Amino acid sequence: MANIILLGPPGAGKGTQAKRLVDERAMVQLSTGDMLREAKTSGTEMGKLVAEVMERGQLVTDEIVIGLIEEKLAAESGGGFIFDGFPRTLKQADALAALLARTGQTLDSVIEMQVDDAALVARITGRFTCGACGEVYHDVTRPTKVDGTCDVCGSHDLKRRADDNADALKTRLMEYYKKTSPLIGYYYAKGQLESVDGLAEMDAVGEAIAKILDK
Ligand code: AMP
Repeated sequence: MANIILLGPPGAGKGTQAKRLVDERAMVQLSTGDMLREAKTSGTEMGKLVAEVMERGQLVTDEIVIGLIEEKLAAESGGGFIFDGFPRTLKQADALAALLARTGQTLDSVIEMQVDDAALVARITGRFTCGACGEVYHDVTRPTKVDGTCDVCGSHDLKRRADDNADALKTRLMEYYKKTSPLIGYYYAKGQLESVDGLAEMDAVGEAIAKILDK
C-alpha cells in the first residue's frame, strides 16, 4: 500500500484528512505531534523535555522525532503509512528516506495542503478535539450537536491543545515557514509533490487526496 506525507502549516487539515484515510483505506497514521503529546502525558524524561518546547510552538529536536518515527516503523508491519506532521525539516526528510530505504519501502506521494494564513488563525483558535476518540471540532464551523458531548462516541472529554492559542500559533507559523516550507521545493525537485486546495470543504479535500492515491 502507498506511503504518503501530508505536508502543510498547522491547521491545514492534515490530522483530519489522515483520520479519514485511516477509516476509509485502513492506512496507518503516524503523527509525531500525537506521539509527542502522548510522551508529554506519560511523565517520562523525554515528555518533560518536549512539553515546554511544544507549548511555545517551537519544533522539538530532529533526533527526538526521528527516534520516535524509527521506533514506530520498526513496530508496524506492512505499509500504507500517512506521515502527518513529519518530516518538518530537511534533516527529517533525509532521515525518512533512509529509514524507508532500509525497510525496502517507498514514498509514493507528498501531498501539500495549501491554505492561507488568515484561515489558519481562525481554524486553530476555535479547535477542540474529543479526548476519547480523537474527533476534531470547531467552535464556529463544526460545533458538537449537544454542548460538551462528542457526536461520535458520546464522551464529555473535550479538550483544547495547549498550543492552539494566538501566541503559540505565531511561533508555529514562523517555524513552518523557516524550517518546513523548504520541503515543498525538496519534494517538487524529486518529482513527488502533489498539491490540493486545503481551503475547500473537508469532503472535497478528501476527494482530491483520494484521486492522487488512486492514480
Ligand atoms: P502537530 O500536532 O503536528 O501540530 O505538532 C505539535 C507540536 O509538536 C509542534 O508544534 C512541535 O512542537 C512538535 N512536533 C510535532 N511534529 C514534529 C516534528 N516532525 N519535528 C519537530 N517538532 C514536532
